[in-house]
Amino acid sequence: SEIATMMNIQVNQIIGACMSLGMMVTMNQRLDAETLTIVAEEFDYKVEFVGAEVEDAIVEEEDSAEDLEGRAPIITVMGHVDHGKTSLLDYIRKANVIAGESGGITQHIGAYGVQLESGERIAFLDTPGHEAFTAMRARGAQVTDLVIIVVAADDGLMPQTKEAISHAQAAGVPIVFAINKIDVQGANPDKIKEQLAGMDLLVEDWGGKIQSHDISAKTGQGIDELLEKVLLEAEMLDLKANPEKRAIGTVVEAYLDKGRGYVSTILVQEGTLKVGDYVLAGKNSGKVKAMFNERGNAMDGAGPSTPVSILGLDGAPQAGDRFHVFEDEKEAKQIATKRSQLQREQSVRTQKHITLDEIGRRIALGDFKELNIILKGDVDGSVEALTDSFQKQSTEEIQVNIIHKGVGAITESDVLLASASEAIIVGFNVRPSGNARMIADQEEIDIRTYSIIYDAINDLRDAMEGMLSPEM
Ligand code: GDP
Repeated sequence: SEIATMMNIQVNQIIGACMSLGMMVTMNQRLDAETLTIVAEEFDYKVEFVGAEVEDAIVEEEDSAEDLEGRAPIITVMGHVDHGKTSLLDYIRKANVIAGESGGITQHIGAYGVQLESGERIAFLDTPGHEAFTAMRARGAQVTDLVIIVVAADDGLMPQTKEAISHAQAAGVPIVFAINKIDVQGANPDKIKEQLAGMDLLVEDWGGKIQSHDISAKTGQGIDELLEKVLLEAEMLDLKANPEKRAIGTVVEAYLDKGRGYVSTILVQEGTLKVGDYVLAGKNSGKVKAMFNERGNAMDGAGPSTPVSILGLDGAPQAGDRFHVFEDEKEAKQIATKRSQLQREQSVRTQKHITLDEIGRRIALGDFKELNIILKGDVDGSVEALTDSFQKQSTEEIQVNIIHKGVGAITESDVLLASASEAIIVGFNVRPSGNARMIADQEEIDIRTYSIIYDAINDLRDAMEGMLSPEM
């Protein structure tokens, strides 16, 4: 279906062309290079594989079932500002010093690991907030296994809480709620659970399946139990990785240190990273000269679900970049250089996201099944009314999903979510903030603003029927 879209022909025609080559294919199947070339020729197109040979040079070792071992879950903490994300992360870090660690000053390196008294390990991404989470996802990195959403029991579900929920749901990552600040006079955890129920999120106490626990990030009350629930939830995901191969993982953050050069925090996801390994990370490469945990202790190796900061890369890769280990330093360097070149060449043609104008055409081509919409409005009433009307536009061919809705201006975080989830943004009597507008332009995200409900619904209907006249 991707190549059908590129050539602007019906997906059935591609399937037919493959059949005449003796291949039975489905719409979502990936074709090999040779088939793509032949099929494209049938329709008078010539295929050029840009940069493919660069990425093909990265060969990931295959795992057989017996190589796989259980690994620790990787957690991100999200929630509304001041509800206690940082306090919770700090408390967990201080209370769970890994046995045998000398208690050096804990440095912020963007991620850390803890070992509980039971011996179980958890890795935390210490970049709280859904923006960082979704920015990484927009770059294709799905690192988090599970999200803890912190809600202050003396406050309530706030706009950023709802955003965090939408972002976690859009990523398909399970949520555990931490209902915080229960030590505060007047805190009312039941009210939070009731509000969650109002959003169709039923926690266990309310007969639902979603885990939640009442905690105080100040006194530490309930945090052990919260982590137990997190581990229980993680167990159901049956997380596994092969520790016995060249390491693969994701960059969490990187910076230039005056004395030590480029310091990159990476999260090892598969295999084991060792000092002396040759690493490729995004457009950078180098030999791992030294490796540290968040306490600044030197390490020789790091296995799956272990965050480490490494020295030795020739630059600062970006958060969300994948890293791979190579046997040959030159090869890693070559790929890094080629990636930089390609990026310079391609910077003019950025990846294009879906727009309302394009929807009708994509539906007609038969490769578009779900329309994701982020909906922002000035008052709750109009947001609800539009949600209803938009959802009613769903047809047998296409499902309309409101992946996030809320009251208020269109923010940077909305744009990131749209980019990570292939969504368009609809604003009703609200506009994008300056920053949001700038990022939307960069990322080519379609933002539509309306002040008449009827117009918004009409545009959507026309777009889905392929009748929308292009926006001037
Ligand atoms: P963040 O913005 O979500 O990272 O929130 P912080 O962790 O910075 O917390 C905001 C404020 O709430 C700080 O002043 C914390 O000391 C306070 N705070 C966080 N958790 C608790 C708690 O469980 N009880 C009380 N009493 N205060 C808390």
